[in-house]
Amino acid sequence: MRKTKVLLASSEVVPFAKVGGLADVAGSLPKALIGHNIDIRVVMPKYRDIPSIFKDKMEYICHFFVDIGWRHQYCGVFKLVYENITYYFIDNAYYFDRKGLYGHYDECEQFTYFTRAFIEMLPHINFKPDIIHCNDWQTALTGFYLKESYNNNPFYSEIKTVYTIHNLKYQGVFPKEVLPDILGIDWKHFNSNSLEFYDSVNFMKAGILFSDVVNTVSPTYSQEVLTEYYGEKLNYCLKDRLQAFSGILNGIDYDIFNPETDKEIYQNYSASDISGKYTNKRELQKLLNLPLKAEVPIISIISRLVDQKGLDLIEYVLNELLSEDLQLIILGTGEKKYEDMFRHYAKLYPDKISANLAFNADLAQKIYSGSDLFLMPSLFEPCGLSQLISLRYGTIPIVRETGGLKDTVKPYNEFDDTGYGFTFSSYNAHDMLYTIRRALSIYKDTQTFSKLVKRAMQLDYSWNSSGKEYSKLYQELLEK
Ligand code: ADP
Repeated sequence: MRKTKVLLASSEVVPFAKVGGLADVAGSLPKALIGHNIDIRVVMPKYRDIPSIFKDKMEYICHFFVDIGWRHQYCGVFKLVYENITYYFIDNAYYFDRKGLYGHYDECEQFTYFTRAFIEMLPHINFKPDIIHCNDWQTALTGFYLKESYNNNPFYSEIKTVYTIHNLKYQGVFPKEVLPDILGIDWKHFNSNSLEFYDSVNFMKAGILFSDVVNTVSPTYSQEVLTEYYGEKLNYCLKDRLQAFSGILNGIDYDIFNPETDKEIYQNYSASDISGKYTNKRELQKLLNLPLKAEVPIISIISRLVDQKGLDLIEYVLNELLSEDLQLIILGTGEKKYEDMFRHYAKLYPDKISANLAFNADLAQKIYSGSDLFLMPSLFEPCGLSQLISLRYGTIPIVRETGGLKDTVKPYNEFDDTGYGFTFSSYNAHDMLYTIRRALSIYKDTQTFSKLVKRAMQLDYSWNSSGKEYSKLYQELLEK
Protein backbone atom coordinates (compact mmCIF):
# COMPACT_ATOMS: atom_id res chain seq x y z
CA MET A 1 0.00 0.00 0.00
CA ARG A 2 1.32 3.46 -0.92
CA LYS A 3 2.46 5.51 2.03
CA THR A 4 0.60 8.71 2.86
CA LYS A 5 3.01 11.60 2.43
CA VAL A 6 2.88 14.35 5.02
CA LEU A 7 4.93 17.50 5.48
CA LEU A 8 4.74 18.79 9.05
CA ALA A 9 5.60 22.50 9.21
CA SER A 10 6.51 24.05 12.54
CA SER A 11 8.39 27.11 13.74
CA GLU A 12 10.05 25.04 16.50
CA VAL A 13 10.94 21.38 16.79
CA VAL A 14 12.68 19.37 19.52
CA PRO A 15 15.66 18.70 19.58
CA PHE A 16 16.64 21.56 17.25
CA ALA A 17 14.91 24.60 18.76
CA LYS A 18 12.35 24.91 21.53
CA VAL A 19 10.42 27.66 23.25
CA GLY A 20 7.25 25.85 24.30
CA GLY A 21 5.11 22.74 23.98
CA LEU A 22 4.76 23.14 20.19
CA ALA A 23 8.38 22.04 19.82
CA ASP A 24 7.76 18.92 21.91
CA VAL A 25 4.76 17.98 19.79
CA ALA A 26 6.51 18.64 16.47
CA GLY A 27 9.43 16.55 17.73
CA SER A 28 7.47 13.53 18.92
CA LEU A 29 4.40 13.24 16.68
CA PRO A 30 6.46 12.25 13.58
CA LYS A 31 8.08 9.37 15.48
CA ALA A 32 4.65 8.15 16.55
CA LEU A 33 3.46 8.17 12.92
CA ILE A 34 6.26 6.09 11.40
CA GLY A 35 4.48 2.83 12.17
CA HIS A 36 1.26 4.01 10.48
CA ASN A 37 2.37 3.74 6.86
CA ILE A 38 3.06 7.47 6.72
CA ASP A 39 6.08 9.12 5.12
CA ILE A 40 6.29 12.12 7.42
CA ARG A 41 8.89 14.81 6.92
CA VAL A 42 9.33 17.97 8.93
CA VAL A 43 10.26 21.50 7.90
CA MET A 44 11.45 24.33 10.15
CA PRO A 45 13.66 27.44 9.91
CA LYS A 46 17.44 27.06 10.10
CA TYR A 47 17.83 29.25 13.18
CA ARG A 48 21.18 30.43 14.49
CA ASP A 49 20.32 28.79 17.83
CA ILE A 50 20.21 25.22 16.45
CA PRO A 51 23.12 23.43 18.15
CA SER A 52 26.14 22.91 15.91
CA ILE A 53 26.08 19.14 16.49
CA PHE A 54 23.03 19.18 14.20
CA LYS A 55 24.08 22.03 11.90
CA ASP A 56 27.38 20.34 11.10
CA LYS A 57 25.58 17.25 9.86
CA MET A 58 23.05 19.04 7.64
CA GLU A 59 23.31 18.49 3.92
CA TYR A 60 22.74 21.33 1.43
CA ILE A 61 20.02 20.31 -1.06
CA CYS A 62 19.21 23.29 -3.27
CA HIS A 63 18.38 26.97 -3.35
CA PHE A 64 15.88 29.19 -5.12
CA PHE A 65 14.28 32.61 -4.58
CA VAL A 66 11.02 33.56 -2.86
CA ASP A 67 9.12 36.78 -3.54
CA ILE A 68 8.06 38.49 -0.38
CA GLY A 69 6.59 41.97 -0.75
CA TRP A 70 9.06 43.84 -2.93
CA ARG A 71 11.93 41.61 -1.85
CA HIS A 72 13.31 38.73 -3.86
CA GLN A 73 14.75 36.54 -1.11
CA TYR A 74 17.26 33.72 -1.20
CA CYS A 75 16.05 30.39 0.16
CA GLY A 76 18.45 27.55 0.85
CA VAL A 77 17.19 24.08 1.76
CA PHE A 78 19.20 21.83 4.06
CA LYS A 79 18.35 18.28 5.06
CA LEU A 80 19.09 16.09 8.04
CA VAL A 81 17.88 12.57 8.72
CA TYR A 82 17.66 12.19 12.47
CA GLU A 83 16.26 9.13 14.22
CA ASN A 84 14.73 7.94 10.92
CA ILE A 85 12.84 11.18 10.26
CA THR A 86 13.75 13.54 7.41
CA TYR A 87 13.99 17.19 8.45
CA TYR A 88 14.28 20.13 6.07
CA PHE A 89 15.67 23.46 7.23
CA ILE A 90 14.88 26.71 5.45
CA ASP A 91 18.00 28.82 5.28
CA ASN A 92 18.00 32.58 5.01
CA ALA A 93 20.48 34.55 7.12
CA TYR A 94 18.41 37.73 7.05
CA TYR A 95 15.38 36.07 8.67
CA PHE A 96 16.87 33.30 10.79
CA ASP A 97 20.48 34.05 11.67
CA ARG A 98 19.33 35.93 14.76
CA LYS A 99 19.41 35.47 18.50
CA GLY A 100 16.28 33.72 19.78
CA LEU A 101 13.38 32.35 17.79
CA TYR A 102 10.73 34.98 18.27
CA GLY A 103 10.14 38.56 19.30
CA HIS A 104 11.83 40.32 16.39
CA TYR A 105 10.22 43.41 14.90
CA ASP A 106 9.37 41.67 11.60
CA GLU A 107 7.75 38.39 12.69
CA CYS A 108 4.97 38.85 10.15
CA GLU A 109 7.46 38.97 7.29
CA GLN A 110 9.69 36.30 8.83
CA PHE A 111 6.98 33.65 9.02
CA THR A 112 5.22 34.64 5.80
CA TYR A 113 8.61 34.07 4.18
CA PHE A 114 8.97 30.72 5.96
CA THR A 115 5.52 29.60 4.81
CA ARG A 116 6.05 30.58 1.18
CA ALA A 117 9.52 29.10 1.27
CA PHE A 118 8.42 25.61 2.32
CA ILE A 119 5.49 25.64 -0.10
CA GLU A 120 7.83 26.59 -2.96
CA MET A 121 10.50 24.17 -1.78
CA LEU A 122 8.36 21.12 -2.59
CA PRO A 123 8.88 20.88 -6.39
CA HIS A 124 12.59 21.63 -5.90
CA ILE A 125 13.06 18.69 -3.53
CA ASN A 126 10.69 16.54 -5.55
CA PHE A 127 8.39 15.80 -2.63
CA LYS A 128 4.68 16.18 -3.25
CA PRO A 129 2.88 15.61 0.05
CA ASP A 130 -0.72 14.49 0.24
CA ILE A 131 -1.06 16.68 3.30
CA ILE A 132 0.71 19.68 4.76
CA HIS A 133 0.20 19.69 8.51
CA CYS A 134 0.73 23.22 9.80
CA ASN A 135 0.83 24.49 13.36
CA ASP A 136 -0.05 27.70 15.18
CA TRP A 137 -0.06 31.16 13.63
CA GLN A 138 3.42 31.02 12.12
CA THR A 139 2.42 28.56 9.40
CA ALA A 140 -1.32 29.28 9.37
CA LEU A 141 -1.36 30.93 5.94
CA THR A 142 -0.54 27.65 4.18
CA GLY A 143 -4.13 26.67 3.39
CA PHE A 144 -4.96 30.17 2.17
CA TYR A 145 -1.95 30.30 -0.14
CA LEU A 146 -2.64 26.85 -1.56
CA LYS A 147 -6.25 27.73 -2.28
CA GLU A 148 -5.78 31.30 -3.48
CA SER A 149 -2.24 31.79 -4.77
CA TYR A 150 -0.94 28.42 -5.95
CA ASN A 151 -4.27 26.99 -7.17
CA ASN A 152 -3.38 27.39 -10.84
CA ASN A 153 -0.28 25.27 -10.47
CA PRO A 154 -1.19 21.56 -10.89
CA PHE A 155 1.65 20.50 -8.56
CA TYR A 156 -0.30 21.94 -5.63
CA SER A 157 -3.87 21.30 -6.64
CA GLU A 158 -4.36 18.05 -4.69
CA ILE A 159 -2.45 18.91 -1.52
CA LYS A 160 -4.70 19.03 1.56
CA THR A 161 -4.04 20.88 4.78
CA VAL A 162 -4.39 20.03 8.47
CA TYR A 163 -4.12 22.94 10.87
CA THR A 164 -3.37 22.37 14.56
CA ILE A 165 -3.98 25.12 17.10
CA HIS A 166 -1.64 24.69 20.05
CA ASN A 167 -2.73 27.90 21.76
CA LEU A 168 -5.57 30.10 20.54
CA LYS A 169 -4.18 33.10 22.39
CA TYR A 170 -1.27 33.68 20.02
CA GLN A 171 -2.92 34.48 16.71
CA GLY A 172 -0.46 36.49 14.64
CA VAL A 173 -2.41 39.74 14.30
CA PHE A 174 -0.78 42.50 12.22
CA PRO A 175 -1.77 45.90 10.76
CA LYS A 176 -3.85 45.57 7.60
CA GLU A 177 -1.16 47.19 5.42
CA VAL A 178 0.82 43.92 5.55
CA LEU A 179 -1.78 42.33 3.29
CA PRO A 180 -0.45 43.67 -0.03
CA ASP A 181 2.99 44.74 1.21
CA ILE A 182 4.18 41.52 2.83
CA LEU A 183 1.63 38.77 2.24
CA GLY A 184 1.21 39.74 -1.42
CA ILE A 185 -2.56 39.29 -1.10
CA ASP A 186 -5.20 41.37 -2.85
CA TRP A 187 -7.40 43.74 -0.80
CA LYS A 188 -10.45 41.76 -1.89
CA HIS A 189 -9.52 39.25 0.83
CA PHE A 190 -9.75 41.93 3.50
CA ASN A 191 -13.26 41.06 4.64
CA SER A 192 -14.86 39.31 7.60
CA ASN A 193 -15.16 35.99 5.70
CA SER A 194 -11.46 35.99 5.06
CA LEU A 195 -8.35 37.48 6.69
CA GLU A 196 -9.85 40.63 8.21
CA PHE A 197 -10.10 40.69 12.02
CA TYR A 198 -11.07 43.92 13.81
CA ASP A 199 -9.51 46.01 11.04
CA SER A 200 -6.26 43.99 11.16
CA VAL A 201 -4.98 40.83 9.49
CA ASN A 202 -5.17 37.60 11.52
CA PHE A 203 -3.03 34.62 10.47
CA MET A 204 -4.76 32.13 12.76
CA LYS A 205 -8.14 33.08 11.37
CA ALA A 206 -6.81 32.21 7.91
CA GLY A 207 -5.66 28.85 9.27
CA ILE A 208 -9.11 28.13 10.68
CA LEU A 209 -11.05 29.18 7.59
CA PHE A 210 -8.84 27.89 4.78
CA SER A 211 -7.39 24.60 6.08
CA ASP A 212 -9.23 21.42 5.15
CA VAL A 213 -9.39 20.23 8.75
CA VAL A 214 -8.61 22.01 11.99
CA ASN A 215 -7.88 20.55 15.37
CA THR A 216 -6.67 21.57 18.75
CA VAL A 217 -4.72 19.66 21.35
CA SER A 218 -7.32 18.30 23.76
CA PRO A 219 -11.01 17.38 23.58
CA THR A 220 -12.00 19.71 26.44
CA TYR A 221 -10.14 22.72 24.98
CA SER A 222 -11.83 22.05 21.62
CA GLN A 223 -15.17 22.54 23.36
CA GLU A 224 -14.06 25.47 25.51
CA VAL A 225 -12.79 27.55 22.58
CA LEU A 226 -16.29 27.63 21.13
CA THR A 227 -17.37 29.85 24.05
CA GLU A 228 -16.88 33.60 24.52
CA TYR A 229 -14.77 33.02 27.63
CA TYR A 230 -12.09 30.88 26.00
CA GLY A 231 -12.67 31.75 22.36
CA GLU A 232 -10.26 34.74 22.09
CA LYS A 233 -12.70 36.38 19.63
CA LEU A 234 -12.31 33.48 17.20
CA ASN A 235 -15.10 31.35 18.68
CA TYR A 236 -17.56 32.33 15.92
CA CYS A 237 -15.04 31.49 13.28
CA LEU A 238 -14.41 28.07 14.87
CA LYS A 239 -18.15 27.45 15.06
CA ASP A 240 -18.33 28.02 11.30
CA ARG A 241 -15.89 25.13 10.86
CA LEU A 242 -17.48 22.85 13.45
CA GLN A 243 -17.80 19.92 11.02
CA ALA A 244 -14.06 20.01 10.36
CA PHE A 245 -12.92 20.73 13.92
CA SER A 246 -11.78 18.26 16.59
CA GLY A 247 -9.60 17.86 19.68
CA ILE A 248 -6.73 15.36 19.84
CA LEU A 249 -4.81 15.06 23.06
CA ASN A 250 -1.03 15.50 22.93
CA GLY A 251 1.25 12.88 24.37
CA ILE A 252 4.83 13.10 25.59
CA ASP A 253 7.86 11.22 24.35
CA TYR A 254 8.16 8.27 26.72
CA ASP A 255 11.73 7.61 25.54
CA ILE A 256 12.90 11.09 26.50
CA PHE A 257 10.80 11.42 29.64
CA ASN A 258 11.65 8.18 31.34
CA PRO A 259 12.61 8.04 35.03
CA GLU A 260 14.17 4.61 34.46
CA THR A 261 16.76 5.93 31.99
CA ASP A 262 16.85 9.74 32.37
CA LYS A 263 20.51 10.80 32.57
CA GLU A 264 19.73 14.21 34.07
CA ILE A 265 18.37 12.87 37.33
CA TYR A 266 20.38 11.70 40.32
CA GLN A 267 18.95 8.22 40.58
CA ASN A 268 16.75 6.30 38.17
CA TYR A 269 13.59 4.68 39.49
CA SER A 270 10.43 2.95 38.32
CA ALA A 271 6.84 2.37 39.43
CA SER A 272 7.87 -0.96 40.95
CA ASP A 273 10.62 0.67 43.03
CA ILE A 274 10.20 4.36 43.77
CA SER A 275 12.98 4.55 46.35
CA GLY A 276 15.20 6.47 43.89
CA LYS A 277 12.66 9.28 43.99
CA TYR A 278 13.61 10.00 47.60
CA THR A 279 17.30 10.25 46.66
CA ASN A 280 16.33 12.69 43.92
CA LYS A 281 14.38 14.73 46.45
CA ARG A 282 17.31 14.96 48.84
CA GLU A 283 19.78 15.88 46.09
CA LEU A 284 17.37 18.49 44.76
CA GLN A 285 17.08 20.07 48.22
CA LYS A 286 20.88 20.11 48.42
CA LEU A 287 21.24 21.64 44.96
CA LEU A 288 18.75 24.42 45.68
CA ASN A 289 19.91 25.12 49.25
CA LEU A 290 16.68 24.01 50.85
CA PRO A 291 16.67 22.29 54.26
CA LEU A 292 17.30 18.56 53.84
CA LYS A 293 14.01 17.35 55.20
CA ALA A 294 12.64 14.15 53.73
CA GLU A 295 9.22 14.51 55.36
CA VAL A 296 8.49 18.07 54.14
CA PRO A 297 6.55 18.00 50.86
CA ILE A 298 8.03 19.75 47.83
CA ILE A 299 5.55 21.48 45.54
CA SER A 300 7.02 22.59 42.24
CA ILE A 301 6.07 24.83 39.34
CA ILE A 302 7.84 24.61 35.97
CA SER A 303 6.22 27.08 33.66
CA ARG A 304 6.29 30.15 31.50
CA LEU A 305 5.47 32.89 34.02
CA VAL A 306 2.45 34.38 32.24
CA ASP A 307 -1.17 35.06 33.20
CA GLN A 308 -2.35 31.91 31.39
CA LYS A 309 -0.68 29.73 34.00
CA GLY A 310 -2.81 30.94 36.92
CA LEU A 311 -0.01 32.75 38.70
CA ASP A 312 -2.30 35.48 40.00
CA LEU A 313 -4.07 32.81 42.07
CA ILE A 314 -0.74 31.89 43.61
CA GLU A 315 0.09 35.55 44.23
CA TYR A 316 -3.20 36.01 46.05
CA VAL A 317 -2.60 33.26 48.61
CA LEU A 318 1.18 32.94 48.67
CA ASN A 319 1.48 34.17 52.26
CA GLU A 320 -1.11 31.68 53.42
CA LEU A 321 0.45 28.92 51.38
CA LEU A 322 3.86 29.57 52.89
CA SER A 323 2.46 29.27 56.39
CA GLU A 324 2.14 25.54 55.64
CA ASP A 325 5.00 23.16 56.28
CA LEU A 326 6.25 22.80 52.69
CA GLN A 327 8.94 23.75 50.21
CA LEU A 328 8.08 25.51 46.97
CA ILE A 329 10.33 25.29 43.90
CA ILE A 330 9.77 27.52 40.88
CA LEU A 331 11.49 27.18 37.52
CA GLY A 332 10.40 29.66 34.90
CA THR A 333 10.81 32.91 33.05
CA GLY A 334 8.25 35.39 31.84
CA GLU A 335 6.44 38.49 32.97
CA LYS A 336 8.44 40.74 35.26
CA LYS A 337 5.66 41.02 37.87
CA TYR A 338 5.75 37.27 38.47
CA GLU A 339 9.53 37.03 38.41
CA ASP A 340 9.68 39.87 40.96
CA MET A 341 7.05 38.19 43.12
CA PHE A 342 8.94 34.90 43.36
CA ARG A 343 12.28 36.69 43.84
CA HIS A 344 10.75 38.72 46.68
CA TYR A 345 9.26 35.73 48.47
CA ALA A 346 12.45 33.70 48.01
CA LYS A 347 14.31 36.43 49.90
CA LEU A 348 11.69 36.49 52.65
CA TYR A 349 11.48 32.72 53.03
CA PRO A 350 14.82 31.26 51.86
CA ASP A 351 14.07 27.99 53.66
CA LYS A 352 10.77 27.59 51.89
CA ILE A 353 11.03 28.94 48.36
CA SER A 354 13.61 28.35 45.67
CA ALA A 355 13.01 30.70 42.73
CA ASN A 356 14.93 29.71 39.60
CA LEU A 357 14.11 32.38 37.05
CA ALA A 358 15.65 30.74 34.02
CA PHE A 359 14.97 28.27 31.24
CA ASN A 360 16.90 25.16 32.17
CA ALA A 361 15.88 21.79 30.72
CA ASP A 362 18.32 19.78 32.89
CA LEU A 363 17.15 21.38 36.11
CA ALA A 364 13.56 20.78 34.99
CA GLN A 365 14.16 17.03 34.97
CA LYS A 366 15.74 17.16 38.43
CA ILE A 367 12.69 19.04 39.71
CA TYR A 368 10.16 16.72 38.06
CA SER A 369 11.87 13.71 39.62
CA GLY A 370 12.60 15.14 43.07
CA SER A 371 9.28 16.85 43.86
CA ASP A 372 6.21 15.41 45.53
CA LEU A 373 3.52 17.65 44.03
CA PHE A 374 3.29 19.76 40.88
CA LEU A 375 1.13 22.89 40.82
CA MET A 376 -0.54 24.01 37.58
CA PRO A 377 -3.65 26.15 38.28
CA SER A 378 -4.02 27.43 34.70
CA LEU A 379 -6.63 29.95 33.63
CA PHE A 380 -6.77 27.99 30.39
CA GLU A 381 -4.61 25.14 29.11
CA PRO A 382 -4.88 23.83 25.52
CA CYS A 383 -3.27 20.54 26.55
CA GLY A 384 -0.34 21.07 28.90
CA LEU A 385 2.68 18.81 28.82
CA SER A 386 4.16 19.63 32.21
CA GLN A 387 1.45 17.73 34.11
CA LEU A 388 2.05 14.71 31.85
CA ILE A 389 5.78 14.82 32.55
CA SER A 390 5.18 15.16 36.27
CA LEU A 391 2.82 12.15 36.24
CA ARG A 392 5.45 10.13 34.41
CA TYR A 393 7.93 10.98 37.19
CA GLY A 394 5.42 10.18 39.96
CA THR A 395 4.97 13.81 40.98
CA ILE A 396 1.32 14.30 41.77
CA PRO A 397 -0.33 17.20 39.94
CA ILE A 398 -2.60 19.80 41.51
CA VAL A 399 -4.46 21.43 38.62
CA ARG A 400 -7.47 23.48 37.67
CA GLU A 401 -10.01 21.52 35.67
CA THR A 402 -9.58 23.21 32.32
CA GLY A 403 -8.58 22.08 28.82
CA GLY A 404 -6.07 19.28 28.69
CA LEU A 405 -5.61 19.38 32.47
CA LYS A 406 -9.20 18.23 32.85
CA ASP A 407 -8.67 15.49 30.27
CA THR A 408 -5.50 14.10 31.82
CA VAL A 409 -5.61 14.55 35.60
CA LYS A 410 -8.20 12.36 37.26
CA PRO A 411 -8.90 13.58 40.81
CA TYR A 412 -8.11 11.23 43.64
CA ASN A 413 -11.27 9.94 45.27
CA GLU A 414 -10.60 8.30 48.62
CA PHE A 415 -14.06 6.70 48.80
CA ASP A 416 -13.79 4.55 45.71
CA ASP A 417 -9.98 4.74 45.60
CA THR A 418 -9.68 6.07 42.04
CA GLY A 419 -7.69 8.90 40.48
CA TYR A 420 -4.18 10.19 40.96
CA GLY A 421 -4.28 14.00 41.21
CA PHE A 422 -5.91 16.94 42.96
CA THR A 423 -8.20 19.27 41.06
CA PHE A 424 -10.48 22.28 41.51
CA SER A 425 -12.82 23.88 39.03
CA SER A 426 -13.51 27.59 39.77
CA TYR A 427 -10.77 30.05 38.99
CA ASN A 428 -10.55 31.00 42.64
CA ALA A 429 -7.44 31.34 44.80
CA HIS A 430 -9.00 29.87 47.93
CA ASP A 431 -10.42 26.91 46.05
CA MET A 432 -6.86 26.30 44.91
CA LEU A 433 -5.51 26.73 48.43
CA TYR A 434 -8.11 24.34 49.81
CA THR A 435 -7.11 21.77 47.18
CA ILE A 436 -3.41 22.17 47.98
CA ARG A 437 -4.20 21.67 51.69
CA ARG A 438 -6.11 18.51 50.87
CA ALA A 439 -3.12 17.26 48.87
CA LEU A 440 -0.83 18.06 51.81
CA SER A 441 -3.02 16.11 54.20
CA ILE A 442 -3.05 13.07 51.90
CA TYR A 443 0.73 13.44 51.55
CA LYS A 444 1.05 12.84 55.29
CA ASP A 445 -0.53 9.42 54.83
CA THR A 446 2.60 7.96 53.26
CA GLN A 447 1.03 4.66 52.28
CA THR A 448 -1.79 6.29 50.34
CA PHE A 449 0.50 8.86 48.80
CA SER A 450 3.01 6.33 47.50
CA LYS A 451 0.08 4.39 46.04
CA LEU A 452 -0.84 7.54 44.08
CA VAL A 453 2.78 7.99 42.97
CA LYS A 454 2.87 4.47 41.56
CA ARG A 455 -0.55 4.83 39.98
CA ALA A 456 0.54 8.03 38.23
CA MET A 457 3.71 6.42 36.94
CA GLN A 458 1.76 3.56 35.40
CA LEU A 459 -0.46 5.77 33.24
CA ASP A 460 0.13 5.88 29.51
CA TYR A 461 0.28 9.40 28.09
CA SER A 462 2.76 8.46 25.42
CA TRP A 463 2.09 9.26 21.76
CA ASN A 464 0.69 5.79 21.06
CA SER A 465 -2.97 6.67 21.12
CA SER A 466 -2.58 10.27 19.87
CA GLY A 467 -0.45 9.03 16.97
CA LYS A 468 -3.30 6.70 15.99
CA GLU A 469 -5.77 9.57 16.10
CA TYR A 470 -3.67 11.79 13.84
CA SER A 471 -3.20 8.91 11.44
CA LYS A 472 -6.99 8.47 11.37
CA LEU A 473 -7.48 12.21 10.82
CA TYR A 474 -5.15 12.09 7.80
CA GLN A 475 -6.89 9.04 6.34
CA GLU A 476 -10.35 10.50 6.75
CA LEU A 477 -9.22 13.72 5.12
CA LEU A 478 -7.81 11.89 2.10
CA GLU A 479 -10.98 9.84 1.72
CA LYS A 480 -13.19 12.94 1.64
P1 ADP B 1 3.30 25.83 27.23
O1 ADP B 1 3.51 25.20 25.88
O2 ADP B 1 2.03 26.61 27.38
O3 ADP B 1 4.49 26.63 27.68
P2 ADP B 1 3.27 23.10 28.24
O4 ADP B 1 2.99 22.54 29.58
O5 ADP B 1 2.46 22.57 27.10
O6 ADP B 1 3.16 24.68 28.34
O7 ADP B 1 4.80 22.84 27.84
C1 ADP B 1 5.83 23.47 28.51
C2 ADP B 1 7.11 22.70 28.30
O8 ADP B 1 8.21 23.57 28.54
C3 ADP B 1 7.28 21.54 29.29
O9 ADP B 1 8.06 20.54 28.65
C4 ADP B 1 8.03 22.19 30.46
O10 ADP B 1 8.77 21.26 31.21
C5 ADP B 1 8.97 23.12 29.69
N1 ADP B 1 9.37 24.33 30.45
C6 ADP B 1 8.61 25.40 30.75
N2 ADP B 1 9.35 26.32 31.41
C7 ADP B 1 10.58 25.81 31.52
C8 ADP B 1 11.81 26.29 32.10
N3 ADP B 1 11.88 27.47 32.68
N4 ADP B 1 12.90 25.51 32.02
C9 ADP B 1 12.82 24.30 31.41
N5 ADP B 1 11.72 23.79 30.85
C10 ADP B 1 10.61 24.53 30.89
